[in-house]
Amino acid sequence: MGERDPRTVAAANGVAIDESYGAVTPPLYLSSTFAFSGFERHRGYEYGRTANPGRDLLADTVAQLEGGAGAVVTSSGMAAVDLVLSLAGRDDLIVAPHDCYGGTYRLLGARRDKGQFGVVYIDQSDVAALDAVLARRPVLVLVETPSNPLMRVVDIRAIARRAKEAGAKVAVDNTFLSPALQRPIQLGADFVVHSTTKYLNGHSDVVGGAVVCAAEADLAQLRAWANITGVTGSPFDAYLTLRGIRTLFPRIERQQANAAVVASFLEKHEAVSVVHYPGLASHSGHVLARSQQDGFGAMLSFELAGGVDAVRRFVEAVKIFTLAESLGGVESLVAHPATMTHAGMGAEARRAAGIGDGLLRLSVGLEAEVDLVADLERGLAAAVTAGRAKP
Ligand SMILES: *Cc1c(COP(=O)(O)O)cnc(C)c1O
Repeated sequence: MGERDPRTVAAANGVAIDESYGAVTPPLYLSSTFAFSGFERHRGYEYGRTANPGRDLLADTVAQLEGGAGAVVTSSGMAAVDLVLSLAGRDDLIVAPHDCYGGTYRLLGARRDKGQFGVVYIDQSDVAALDAVLARRPVLVLVETPSNPLMRVVDIRAIARRAKEAGAKVAVDNTFLSPALQRPIQLGADFVVHSTTKYLNGHSDVVGGAVVCAAEADLAQLRAWANITGVTGSPFDAYLTLRGIRTLFPRIERQQANAAVVASFLEKHEAVSVVHYPGLASHSGHVLARSQQDGFGAMLSFELAGGVDAVRRFVEAVKIFTLAESLGGVESLVAHPATMTHAGMGAEARRAAGIGDGLLRLSVGLEAEVDLVADLERGLAAAVTAGRAKP
């Protein structure tokens, strides 16, 4: 296939390829098994765990968007992370960010505790810490940028270069930006991991994942593992996710434009003590984000000056931002990391990571920006009331 613009790939990869009836939309094949055309002759598909036409088309689409050799589509984002971990053996070491996604943190810890590999968590913006751990010859370095929920940005190019010199492979979790805004393989990564649950599907109606591989050899290995363990995604989920990807670019462009408006509104408000959004010039990762991203995305977090009391008032006052976990859908969500996504971390670890009790995370959706700002205005007015002594 020739080089096509990613926006064309997203909108039209696999369109009108059906030779049976000329279906414009790629068909959904729910069949778990496929008939052989003769003895010892199959048509390319045998059994649905191993391969399915619609899931393969989704894998090909995600791989093209990320600029990889191919991809494996999994039943969740966690299954995608776990699939990459299958590269590590008992005596191997994995390096992970100290502020990685909570589910990834739990998975790494659980497998380490079973003796399946070693794990070291570091602040990957700390070059000395990275070099110290790379001297121990890890097999894999996991990267997440921007991080959740503080939107910290780390330098994928620099980490990949150092890791490669030390003989380690690099996997980047690109869930927060999607390939529309960041392509880690071009920056030196060996793997890109996605929770397709988020921006790629974008409609909050599928849980799914994918691993994109830069190299054919890695792809063959991960495909084999996915078939062995059975973590491949369902055909219907693949169908919905590809349908979501059709509008990835316009969705994320519109959502990040809304997020920029929201971020600058919040930054000026008296009830807000700090806003974490890489698009703001005040953000510590702003320059780096500019150098490795094509946009700043639609995720942000901010700290309410009034703490937990203000948080309660805020989430009870807003009407458009729904109090829920997850992100990347067309609808705006608000989450309170301390009691929701990061509750399992414990108060002390949260404090060390900089996640305050007044911190709120927003996934900014496709609603009209005037309505979003009005909703936040309502929430913040209620939050400010909480901070003032009642007469
Ligand atoms: C949601 C998420 C995951 C896990 O994905 P699931 O689809 O929920 O299993 C992994 N990494 C990041 C950054 C996520 O946001």
